[in-house]
Amino acid sequence: MKKIVVKFGGSSLANAEQFRKAAAIMKENTARRYVVPSAPGKRFPEDSKVTDLLYQCYASAEEGKDFEKELEEIKKRYQEIIEGLQLPLSIDQEFYEIKQQFENHAGRDYAASRGEYLNGILMAEYLGFPFIDAAQVIRFDSNGVFLPEETDRIFHERLKQEQYAVIPGFYGADEQGVVHTFSRGGSDITGSITAKAAQADLYENWTDVSGFLVADPRVIPDPQVISMITYKELRELSYMGAGVLHEDAIFPVRKAGIPINIRNTNAPKDKGTMIVANTCMPSPFTITGIAGRKGFASINIEKDMMNTEIGFGRKVLGVFQDHGISFEHVPSGIDTMTVFVKEEEFSGKELLVIEQLYQKTEADSIEVEKGLGLIAVVGRSMREQRGTAGRIFSALAHAHVNVKMIDQGSSELNIIIGVDNGEFETAVKALYDIFVTIQL
Ligand code: ADP
Ligand code: ASP
Ligand code: MG
Repeated sequence: MKKIVVKFGGSSLANAEQFRKAAAIMKENTARRYVVPSAPGKRFPEDSKVTDLLYQCYASAEEGKDFEKELEEIKKRYQEIIEGLQLPLSIDQEFYEIKQQFENHAGRDYAASRGEYLNGILMAEYLGFPFIDAAQVIRFDSNGVFLPEETDRIFHERLKQEQYAVIPGFYGADEQGVVHTFSRGGSDITGSITAKAAQADLYENWTDVSGFLVADPRVIPDPQVISMITYKELRELSYMGAGVLHEDAIFPVRKAGIPINIRNTNAPKDKGTMIVANTCMPSPFTITGIAGRKGFASINIEKDMMNTEIGFGRKVLGVFQDHGISFEHVPSGIDTMTVFVKEEEFSGKELLVIEQLYQKTEADSIEVEKGLGLIAVVGRSMREQRGTAGRIFSALAHAHVNVKMIDQGSSELNIIIGVDNGEFETAVKALYDIFVTIQL
């Protein structure tokens, strides 16, 4: 029988009504065997995600404040779902334990993980599936680094014993049983790991949009849905801020060649987006998608005759490495080299970094610019089309956007554009119009 792993995001499980939709999706196809739930997300726009409430509540506990009220609020969120679904389930004992663990400083990761843990218990009860605690099957080392091989071995053996199961997303544990989480949005990764361990035919990722969209719906109203996208394109877009799927969720399934299907819990008939290793299907537009992030800084280093100095780049990047700052892009000219970094990684260390750059490179001048946004235009079909960069430039010029940087990846899969934060939305709109709207 076919095996499908199904992950439901936070908004897909935010209340009893959403749980009902998820259960209907499960019942519709018995091949949907393993379910990975997130913690309850927002029920309405101003609402809080349970994960955020847990982080806040644990911070209060760490500060020695009374956190009982905050914990009670979180309990209410689950109680509301339990009552709405009329589940014969009490979570008193669970919350008693969580309170004790908070008092014993069990850690931020442990605190956050309870969001998915509890939702997993509810989901298992509601579906009548066995519950597998992710702490038993998803392995991290004691520094919180995920261990893929060990996990796959343990998890695969465990899943062999269950035809159906619920496995909460977002966390796992080390050998000592200490809980660690992935970074935010990490239930997508758990879903992918589960698909690999189950040797599934398909990984369905159910969320609140009808697939991966050509651009962020918060910037472009009602953008087109991408029906088919490759893992590589998706990784570029996710990394640059298309938040639908965690950027690391691709690796486990990619290795195993399992396709991912992004679906909408609120519109289950929509086909969504298929994410595949390769496709000969051309994308309907020159580009597949646009994504971007704000909050970058550029450090522009000038030195006469830089081009003749062997090892110059290594010295520059070495300084960033010494300060634990990763670089995003390094466009260069004959006598200039610019390093783009995330502002949040750079800001606290700025003065030291600049000082050391002068020392190590004997640069003539170094200038820092903050408040930059980077936009990635991604597409497997760009390689075959001439003039893509030209179209980007002219679209942005027409929209009066000042382009600070343009960098084409050597794979010719993406072009990165740097603009001021303030011009970010205008730039994305101009790019969407020139490549998509115009072709509709
Ligand atoms: P979940 O809770 O189901 O994991 P997320 O909030 O993590 O859902 O991801 C879905 C959201 O991602 C959408 O509601 C949308 O606002 C946002 N998003 C950003 N860029 C894109 C894009 N290119 N396509 C679709 N959604 C996007
Ligand atoms: N609940 C976690 C978060 O809010 C993980 C996830 O939703 O994927 O980040
Ligand atoms: Mg998500």
